[in-house]
Amino acid sequence: MNKKLPLIAIIGRPNVGKSTFFNRMLKSRKAIVDAQEGITRDRIYGKMDWEGHDINIVDTGGFIPNDAEIFNAPIRNQIKQAVEEADLILFIVDGREDATSSDRELAQIVHDIGKKCILVLNKCDYKELEENVYQWYELGIETIVPISALSGRSTGDLLEIVIEKLDLINPGSDQVDDDSMRIAIVGMPNVGKSSLTNALLQKEQSIVTPIAGTTRDSIDSQLVWYGKNITIVDTAGMRKLAKVSESINTIPL
Ligand code: GDP
Ligand code: MG
Repeated sequence: MNKKLPLIAIIGRPNVGKSTFFNRMLKSRKAIVDAQEGITRDRIYGKMDWEGHDINIVDTGGFIPNDAEIFNAPIRNQIKQAVEEADLILFIVDGREDATSSDRELAQIVHDIGKKCILVLNKCDYKELEENVYQWYELGIETIVPISALSGRSTGDLLEIVIEKLDLINPGSDQVDDDSMRIAIVGMPNVGKSSLTNALLQKEQSIVTPIAGTTRDSIDSQLVWYGKNITIVDTAGMRKLAKVSESINTIPL
């Protein structure tokens, strides 16, 4: 028998963009097997694929006329059912607004069930709208991700977190430098930081590239040591800074 696929439940009050998100997940990955009506009339199930992981996804509140601001018992019940069977809950809110009583009620359902949950702040169509994010911590959900389901903004970031939360990361495959480390060489001027860096690099024949680091005056160099990737950061910038403060300190009083 096939291993059961993980199931994500999309919940949220009407009009926050649940179905927009659901459709995007199914369409944009082009890996839909089918998006069919669920067992219960009001839930829609679909299958999506993200970076080779198949995930089942269920949208709730699907057939409420015009998705008006109704939050009645039937919706509540179907949300509860979806949450019961889910491995991960995507709790969607309107990130441009403040939390409503319905949002709080849903947060309570999520807390009661005690399952993994991501609070998705939808409708964050551009960066400035993310300024609101802190107020959402009041719902007591640790992981908060602002996205725009309409434009797809940051949905990739969200899916990365989904994969992580579902423990779908396969150890040993696709691992990118998991064992790499960065060492920063810091210290006062003239103590021998660069000599140490050079000694480390010259000792090994396996230097790959000495590239200018992101910080203006620091240099990143890569070396491989017994198969481990190590990045050495020589913080030459500190030397400059130290010189400045030194000269300030030596101004005669
Ligand atoms: P649902 O009731 O939660 O399923 O919400 P829908 O997916 O039906 O979306 C409700 C409305 O919000 C629709 O008019 C969508 O076009 C709009 N909407 C959904 N996602 C976004 C978004 O990311 N940004 C903006 N600006 N509007 C959105
Ligand atoms: Mg909907």
